[in-house]
Amino acid sequence: MVLVPCPACDHRVSDKAFACPSCGHPGSQSDRHGLVPALGRVAGTYVSANAITGAILGSVMFLSVAAVLITLILTHR
Ligand SMILES: [Zn+2]
Repeated sequence: MVLVPCPACDHRVSDKAFACPSCGHPGSQSDRHGLVPALGRVAGTYVSANAITGAILGSVMFLSVAAVLITLILTHR
């Protein structure tokens, strides 16, 4: 795997990636086909949105579990 700068935003992108995860610009792999750049743009946007949603959900879940544990520890003394 080689990281190459995205032509649109200079974000470091894998040469295997279909689209830049930062801006959704189609990668070098997708230049061979006409349909793939459009799909790659959708997939890139989906992956970034998914990663952000996962990070937010992860912190919310962690805080909820931590709050429950702290409450249990404090009330069961
Ligand atoms: Zn980009």
